[in-house]
Amino acid sequence: MTNDIMLKFSDVANVFSEIESRSGRLEMTDILAELFKRADKSEISRLVYLIQGILAPPYEGIDLGLGEQFAIRAIAASAGYSREQVEANYKKSGDLGLTAEELLKKKRQQALSSTEMDVIYVHTAFVKMAKTGGTGSQELKIKYLTELLNNSEPLGGRFIVRFVTGQLRLGVGDPTILDALSVSRTGDKSLREELERAYSVCADMGHVATVFFENPDKIRKFSVQPFKPLMPALAERLSTPEEIIEKIPICSVEMKFDGFRLQVHKKGNNVELYSRKLEKMTPMFPEIVSAVTELACDSIIFEGEALAYEETGTGKLKKKKYLSFQETIQRKRKHGISDAAKAFPLNLFAFDILYLDGKDLTTEPYEKRRKILEKIFPSGKNLKLSERKIVKSGNALEKLFRTSMDSGLEGIMAKDPNSPYAAGKRKFAWIKLKKSYGKAVDTIDVVIVGYYLGKGARAEFEFGGLLAAVQNTKSGKLETVAKIGSGFSEDEMRQFKEMLEKIQTKSPPKDLEFNDAQKPDYWVVPKYVAEVAFDEITKSPTHTCGMKANIGGETKGHALRFPRLLALREDKSVKEITTSEEVESLYYKQHR
Ligand code: AMP
Repeated sequence: MTNDIMLKFSDVANVFSEIESRSGRLEMTDILAELFKRADKSEISRLVYLIQGILAPPYEGIDLGLGEQFAIRAIAASAGYSREQVEANYKKSGDLGLTAEELLKKKRQQALSSTEMDVIYVHTAFVKMAKTGGTGSQELKIKYLTELLNNSEPLGGRFIVRFVTGQLRLGVGDPTILDALSVSRTGDKSLREELERAYSVCADMGHVATVFFENPDKIRKFSVQPFKPLMPALAERLSTPEEIIEKIPICSVEMKFDGFRLQVHKKGNNVELYSRKLEKMTPMFPEIVSAVTELACDSIIFEGEALAYEETGTGKLKKKKYLSFQETIQRKRKHGISDAAKAFPLNLFAFDILYLDGKDLTTEPYEKRRKILEKIFPSGKNLKLSERKIVKSGNALEKLFRTSMDSGLEGIMAKDPNSPYAAGKRKFAWIKLKKSYGKAVDTIDVVIVGYYLGKGARAEFEFGGLLAAVQNTKSGKLETVAKIGSGFSEDEMRQFKEMLEKIQTKSPPKDLEFNDAQKPDYWVVPKYVAEVAFDEITKSPTHTCGMKANIGGETKGHALRFPRLLALREDKSVKEITTSEEVESLYYKQHR
């Protein structure tokens, strides 16, 4: 390996360290572009994954997530210190990566031989660690990590330890990586849009980078493929039927089901189901898989919402009651998969088609996709077509909204017949009108960025509430919007503590704007999405959501009044949370 060494990991670590000390996106883009220029096409995918803090795209399910205790043992073994000494240093530094670096610098036992590691070597070692399972696997993982640290420069140790504990957090977002890829090959951002489209239709930045490095022209013809899931299109929110008609004067309206979104891929007899976070869900829904196998086509990619239902009554009184998202996923947990499939069968309501028999349909207008979908889906046992109506007035839309409410559903989705499929984008191609329309209570999706220790009666749970943030799409930063102290049962407090403890960090997420007044007892890696109800949106001097200087120089953000936790949305990714702009527009609407 030393002779034909390619991109050295120690050089990558130097670049990571430089990126960490910068905050401007332009600077970061240039530094990354320089690094990409030095990478070969055989290693670019691994380099890109390492920057993203992952080992592979989400649907491959290769996660490392090594607990800090294990990393501490590997640092101790590699640097020749006791575990207690490592822990004491960590207490001071607050960052296990820095602890590894410092102790490796002072290394007591020099390794007998050290190997010069390149990017492929380190990535391969991480994958090997991630795939090690079964009895004794933790000990093996510690051994592999110790070997990596033995071979690494101290600075490399900083990033290796952060990576394996899921705390790399370079602060480089996907948009910056896409910019840098374009700059590395063309000297400017001219291919950024094509790269972004390619990424949105395969959700695999490593694959996009490899194709691009093989031949930049290929990126222009990048097309959808079965078993490479697309990033799901997202819906905008408007508050009244009239506003929707103003945006889409002739719109196609469907019921909004509160189920489990699935992206279905089939080629021949192979079927895979992906969640909205693009994780493989195939084993969870056997009844859907067998129904899809029967479809009259060779290959297809379509999307739908899966809902469990319960049948009550018999004969003429037979009725179907659809279960909510929470109940739908619980049916699996409570009853086991095959029992649940019998007791609470599922219907998948197909609402879009993205690919059929070799043809990428994502650039076709929705109306055309819909016609194709209708041909493929004569409603069968577990597969149904999501019904739709074309409407041209606020009144007609309102009527459909009432029908949805009467059936116990979540609201309606209005779709623009002329719009292509906006993979990974929140556009006005889809607009939701939720059940909160006309009511005081509304909900938004937030990401948890920290938690507070409990006081008084809650002290025993060591959990007193959450700090929640939304995303500012202009700056790319997370901004705090609420401190959520209610909506938790005792059992939930225990569960939250256990869950968050595993991802707690001493420093705030790098891309978070916050005010010290909201500082939680512990920060956490922003990964869990929660649905929160509230009474009203107010101006806040301390929450940073949409914070701007008002006339007179007073700086105010927005906050939720009486926020209550409704549900943890494990099916949603951080990319899908509510935006600061949405919160701001909700604020203005409530005062209208
Ligand atoms: P929300 O999660 O509130 O942002 O709403 C968007 C989600 O509604 C989508 O991601 C789908 O999971 C879900 N949904 C329910 N019914 C439909 C439908 N008919 N068309 C598209 N999405 C739907």
